[in-house]
Amino acid sequence: METLALYVDGQSTPPAGGDYFDSIDPYTGLVWSRVPRGTAHDVDQAVRAAHRAFTTGAWAEMTPTQRGRLLYRLGDLVAANAERLGELEVRDNGKLLAEMLGQMRYLPEWFYYYGGLADKVEGAVTPPERPEMMHYIRYEPIGVVAAISPWNSPLVLTVWKLAPALAAGNTVVVKPSEYSSASMLYLAELFEQAGFPAGVINVVTGMGNEIGEALVNHPLVERIAFTGGEGGGRAVYQAAAKSFKRISLELGGKSPNIVFDDADLDDAVKGAVAGIFAAAGQTCMAGSRLLVHDSIHDAFVEKLVAFAGSARLGDPMSDDTDVGPIATRPQFEKVLAYIDIAKGEGAKCVLGGERVEGLGNGLFVKPTIFTEVKNSMRIAQEEVFGPILSVIRFKTDEEAIQIANDTLYGLAAGIWTQSLERAINMPAKLRAGTVWVNAYRVVSYLAPFGGFKNSGIGRENGKEAIREYLEAKSVFINTKRGVPSPFVMRLPSVVNTEG
Ligand code: NAD
Repeated sequence: METLALYVDGQSTPPAGGDYFDSIDPYTGLVWSRVPRGTAHDVDQAVRAAHRAFTTGAWAEMTPTQRGRLLYRLGDLVAANAERLGELEVRDNGKLLAEMLGQMRYLPEWFYYYGGLADKVEGAVTPPERPEMMHYIRYEPIGVVAAISPWNSPLVLTVWKLAPALAAGNTVVVKPSEYSSASMLYLAELFEQAGFPAGVINVVTGMGNEIGEALVNHPLVERIAFTGGEGGGRAVYQAAAKSFKRISLELGGKSPNIVFDDADLDDAVKGAVAGIFAAAGQTCMAGSRLLVHDSIHDAFVEKLVAFAGSARLGDPMSDDTDVGPIATRPQFEKVLAYIDIAKGEGAKCVLGGERVEGLGNGLFVKPTIFTEVKNSMRIAQEEVFGPILSVIRFKTDEEAIQIANDTLYGLAAGIWTQSLERAINMPAKLRAGTVWVNAYRVVSYLAPFGGFKNSGIGRENGKEAIREYLEAKSVFINTKRGVPSPFVMRLPSVVNTEG
C-alpha cells in the first residue's frame, strides 16, 4: 500500500495534522493507498508558496517563451509516463484502463498547445485619440489560481485548468477529489522534473468541505477554476462572491441525444451507448436523455437494448471489459435510488434496472434503459451520473428542440441525422455549450468547452481559455508636458475646448 504526501513549495510533505484517509480500488474493494487529509494550515502554506512564486523569483521573471518551453517539457514527460498515470487513475476511480490510457496519451497535447500559446498573447496599442496621449493594453496573469477537480476524469479536467493558467503566468494550488488524488500527486513530480520552480504548482489533498472551502476563501487566491457537481459549484460561487474572485465553473448536465427518423440507426445506437454506458455514465457530458422520433422508436429501442445488453461488465484493467464499476459507494447508492424513482414515476425498465454482484468486489449496476419517460419526470430532469438512460419520444423537430432545451442544464447535446439542413440548423437552436452531429463525447484542446445555464460559467480549452487567466490592463502615457485643469476629467472634448 502506498502512503501519499502533499506537494507544497516543491516538497513532498506530510499533512500538518498527521491524518490520512483510505483510497479504495472500486473493483477490488481494497484499500490501495493512504491519502493525506490536508488541513486549512496546509492550504495556507500552499497558497503562500504559490503567492511567493507568483510575485518573486524565477517564475515571476520568466518570459512567456520560457514558460512555454517548460510546458513542452512537461508534455513530453506526461507522454513518457502515460501508462503509470492511467493505472493510478483506474485504481482510484475504476474507469476502464483503455479509457484512462487514451486520456493520458492525449493529455500532452494540452501542454503543447498552451505552451505554444504562452508567447502569442499580444497586447495592443490603440489608435491615437488625443494627440498627447499614448494608450496601450497589456494582459497580465491574475495571481494564485485554485484548481478544484472531480474524480471522474481527474487529470484531464485538472490539466484543462493548469495548462492555460500556467501559460498565462499564474501559479496554482490544486485540490483534487478526495476519491482520486494519486495521479495529481504523481503529476506534481513530473512538474519538478520538467524544471518548474518551487511554488508554481502545489497539491493539497483532502475533503471538499474542509480544505476546498479553506482554499476558495483564502485571501491570496484570486482565481478559482472548479469542476464538480451543482452543490459544490454553488457553494464555491457564493464563497467567491464575498471577495469578487474570478471564477469558472464546469458543472453537471442532463444532455439530450436526439435521434431523427433519417438517422443511420446503427451509428445512432453506438452513439447512444457511447453517450451513457461508456464510463458507466459517470461523465458530465453523458447523453442521459435519448430523444427518439416516434416513427422509429420501437425498432430503435429494440436494437439499442440488444447492443447495450451485450456490454461486458468486469475488471476495468481488462481489455475484455466494456463497463466498469461505479466509482464510490455514495454514487452507487444514488444510482440505485434513481432506478427506484424512475420505476415509481411510471417509466418502463426495458434493460437492467439492478445491481450485479460477484464481479471482483466492485459495485456494479447493469446498463439500464427506461422507456415511456416524460421529460417532466425526475429521471429526465436530475443528473444521475450513472448508467441509466431515459428514452423520450418526439414527433416533430420543434418538439425535439423544446424537450431538449427543457432542462436546467446546458452542457452538451447530440444529433443523429442524415439531413444537411438539420445538421446545420439544429445546433443553433440547442441551448448547450457543445453540440455533436453524428458523434458523441468528442472533446479537443482546440474546442471551447463549458455549459449554458446551470451547467456552468466560463469556458475551458481553445484559444479563449488563456484569456480566462489574464487581466487586461490599460496604460495611458502623457507624451507632452502641461497637465490641463485638474478639476475636470480629461476627456477629448474638454482637451479640445481648452486648447
Ligand atoms: P463534487 O462537487 O462532489 O466535488 C468536486 C470537487 O469539489 C472535489 O474536489 C470536492 O472535494 C470539491 N468540493 C466539494 N465541495 C466543496 C466546497 N464546498 N468548497 C470547495 N470545494 C468543494 O463533484 P464530484 O462528485 O467529484 O464530480 C461529479 C460532478 O462533477 C458531476 O455533477 C459532474 O457532472 C461534474 N463534472 C462536470 C464536468 C464539466 O466539465 N462540466 C466534468 C466532470 C464532472
